[in-house]
Parts: sequence; C-alpha cells; structure tokens
Amino acid sequence: MEKYRGHGIGLFSGGLDSSLAVLLIMKQNIKVTALSFVTHFGCDFTDRSSCSRDPFPVAKQFGFEVKLVHLAEQFVEIVRNPKYGHGKNMNSCIDCRILMLREAKKFMELVGADFVFTGEVVGQRPMSQYKPQLNVVARDAGLKGKLVRPLSARILPPTEPELSGILDRDQLENISGRSRKRQMELAAQFGLTDYPNPAGGCLLTDVGYSRRLRDLLAHTDPVDFRELNLLRVGRHFRLDDRCKLIVGRDEMENLEIEKLRRPEDVLFEARETGSPLVLLVGSADEAAVQLAAAITARYCDLKRAEAVNITYGHDECDSKTISVAPAKDALLETIRL
Ligand code: SF4
Repeated sequence: MEKYRGHGIGLFSGGLDSSLAVLLIMKQNIKVTALSFVTHFGCDFTDRSSCSRDPFPVAKQFGFEVKLVHLAEQFVEIVRNPKYGHGKNMNSCIDCRILMLREAKKFMELVGADFVFTGEVVGQRPMSQYKPQLNVVARDAGLKGKLVRPLSARILPPTEPELSGILDRDQLENISGRSRKRQMELAAQFGLTDYPNPAGGCLLTDVGYSRRLRDLLAHTDPVDFRELNLLRVGRHFRLDDRCKLIVGRDEMENLEIEKLRRPEDVLFEARETGSPLVLLVGSADEAAVQLAAAITARYCDLKRAEAVNITYGHDECDSKTISVAPAKDALLETIRL
C-alpha cells in the first residue's frame, strides 16, 4: 500500500456527519485517528438517548482507530461559566466545541499529526455551526488554518493541509444547510448503511435536566460527579439551601438510587406498601426530614391514606419510623426542580 500522505485527527461521535468526514479524509489515503469524547452530560456513546452512538462498529467496518477522551471537570467548568454563553438551555455548544478541539490539538501535536477535522456542516445547527462561529471556534482552539471541515470545505477558506497539498480540496465537499440529501448519497457511495437519525443534542439541551443542573450549580461548587449522575435519576425537590430530595420513579431508578447512595445520605421508604426509594442529600434539619418523609408518603401506594409509616436512616442500624400525612401536590409544585 502507498505510504500515507498525512495524518488527520477527527472529532468523532459515531453519527453520520462525523463518519462521513472520516471516510472523506481516509479516501485521500490519509491516516485517521478519531477521538470520541465522553462527558457527564451524554452526547456520547455511553448514553443511548443522545445524538451519538457506539463509535466502534463504524471504526471496525472501515478500519480506523478510535480513542476515547473524558472531558471531566473541564467540561463542568465551561457549562458553569461559558465564554460564549448558553443556548436555549444549559448547552454551551460553542465552548464545548472549542474544548473538544483543544484536546484534539494537543493530541495532534503529541502524535505529530498534520491537521484536525470535524463533521461540522455550515449552517446545519444553530449556535455552533454558523460560518462566523466556525471561525471563532477554530481561532479559540488555536487551530486556525489547521482545522478542516471535509463536508463543507469547498465553501470555506482553504486550510493549510489543502494549500500544502496533503489534502486535495477538489475531493472534499461543499455541503451547507440542514438537508441531509448529499450526506445520504455519500453514505450510499461509501457503503455506510447503519447510521442514527440526528437528535437534539446532549442532556444539556433538555429543559428539565437543565433546571436541575442550574439548581445544583447554584448550590454546589465544586460539583461532585456523583451529584451530576443523580441528576439523571428520579424526581428532584429542593427542600432548603442545604439539602435536596430525589424520589425514584420506578424499580430501575430505585436501583440506581441504591447504587449512588452514600453513607452520609438519608434513605426514606414506606416499608408497609409499594414505595419509591427516596434519597435525602445534603445536611438536613428536623423540618427537612419531616418534609422528606411526607413526600415519600405522597409517592407510595398509600398516598390517599391519612398517615403513612415511613422508615428512614443512614443505614439499617440507625433507622427510625415515623407516621406522617402525605405531602400535598400544591406544596410539591413549589419545590419541584
Ligand atoms: S449539544 Fe452542544 S453542549 Fe452538548 S455535547 Fe453537543 S455541542 Fe456540546
């Protein structure tokens, strides 16, 4: 086989556009290393509800390498304080892209690759994929001239690898806008048949999740990753500034609550009937404990009873049982997150 003409580092979600970007680059006999990012907010292959999918089958089918990069604390920081602001919800897409590209740049330099590329399409998504934003993202990531968008390359200024002849600009695409017609043609040409429909984005684009996250960030700094994981589970209620309550909605969520529970948390349950597991997180005074018990009573199978026995404690050894009236829905609406 002819020697590679160069080495490109691709941002890869496993979705259609980033897969096609990889294939367009590989077609020019360029070695590709794809980076898949993992965050606490989905939009990666660990989260089935997100816009991404398991990247490995595509990589295996077409023979390129995928490396996983966890963004961890850095990502939480940009969500808390994004330079370019939030979108409709807590999604800070421009800062998010910049962060991913900075990581890609570091990797490019580490392995001596020639350029970075993405599956971005001009004008396809609000916020991060309008032309001016694409420039800002490349500049802030320190990749000006070295960032290629193979799907829109011919309607963007030529990049260094195109000018130096590593990449043949004529073989790159000129796609813009939201239609996916050309992408589907390309997929058929490459034999890429199994790709997901585009979805809205990560959990940060979800209204309810964003509300819970805003509350967490307002009450916690630095953020604990366990708390972030809890945001995906159950109904949430803010009892006071120091504590909140999480109510499991089904068996799966009860199991998840058990898994995420820590010794300092207080667990509530109506043991005499069908009951959610209810987790009190933070430091609670007597009023908060009473309210937590009343909310547990409201969501157990005896919610219409005048009083329900609720057992609570850090563990079996220190558990207590109290009798409380189920909380009223009107009250719950005022503290629900
Ligand atoms: S939706 Fe926006 S914030 Fe979320 S992962 Fe995608 S680009 Fe980043």
